[in-house]
Amino acid sequence: MGEIAEAEARPTPPPRYSRVLLKISGEALMGDQGYGLHPPTVNRIAREVKSVHDLGVEICMVIGGGNIFRGLSGAAQGMERTTADYMGMLATVMNALAMQSALETLGVFTRVISAIPMDQICEPYIRRRAVRHLEKKRVCIFAAGTGNPYFTTDTAATLRANEMACEAIFKGTKVDGVYDKDPMQHADAVRFDRVSYDDCLARHLKVMDASAIALARDNDLPIIVFSLDEPGGFAGIVAGQGTYTIVD
Ligand code: UDP
Repeated sequence: MGEIAEAEARPTPPPRYSRVLLKISGEALMGDQGYGLHPPTVNRIAREVKSVHDLGVEICMVIGGGNIFRGLSGAAQGMERTTADYMGMLATVMNALAMQSALETLGVFTRVISAIPMDQICEPYIRRRAVRHLEKKRVCIFAAGTGNPYFTTDTAATLRANEMACEAIFKGTKVDGVYDKDPMQHADAVRFDRVSYDDCLARHLKVMDASAIALARDNDLPIIVFSLDEPGGFAGIVAGQGTYTIVD
C-alpha cells in the first residue's frame, strides 16, 4: 500500500487538543538533499497537517530556516551576526510560503504571518487577527521567527504558542521522542516517555534551545516531541497514540 493510501486507510481516533502549534525545522523540508526544499517532502508534511486539520483541530505552524540559512553559520564565516540572523529569518519566510502553497493545493486555507512586515508577500503579525484566522479554521504559518536576531525559531514557536493560547507544542523531528543521547549515534540511547523542563535544561537534552524550554516551562506549555517520518503520525500523536515524549 502506498504511503498516502496507508495514512488515509488508518482510522484516526478523536483528537485530544483543540488548538496546537506544530514546529518543524527547516531541514525537515529538504528530504535527503543537503540543502533547500524537496517538494515531495513538503507535500507529505502538508498531508500530515491536513489530516489533523480535518479533525477540526486549529493549527499554528512555525518552520525553521536551517535548510537554507542559519545565522550562526553566516557569523562563523565572518558575516555580521545580526545581518546573518535576518537572512535566517528570511529563509523561514520562504519555507512558510512553500508550506502555504502545498497546503492550499490540498484545499486547506492558510495565512502566512510574518514577524517582519512584508506586505506584498504575507500578513504582518497582529495577534488578534491571527486568533481570528484560527477560529475560522485557517492554518496560521508564523514566519520570520520572533523578528529579532539572537533568537531561534524554537523560541518563536513557544512565543506564538503562548500568544495563540495553544494547548501544546508538537515538535516534529526525525526521531520519536527525547533520548538521553543521540539515538542516531548511540544504539543504547534510552527514550523518555516523559521528562521535566528542568531535566531537559540541566541535562542539555536536545529538545529545543534553552530559552524556548524556559519560556514553555514558565507558561506551563507542554512540548510533545514525535517523529514526522511515520505516515499518519501527527494525527495519531494529537490523539495521544504512538510513540512520543512529553516535556512538562
Ligand atoms: N532567527 C533569528 N531570530 C528568530 C528566529 C530565527 O535570528 O527569532 C534566525 C537565526 O539566524 C536562525 C535562522 O533564523 O539560525 C533559522 O532558524 P532556526 O535555526 O531556528 O531554524 P531550524 O534549525 O529550526 O531549521
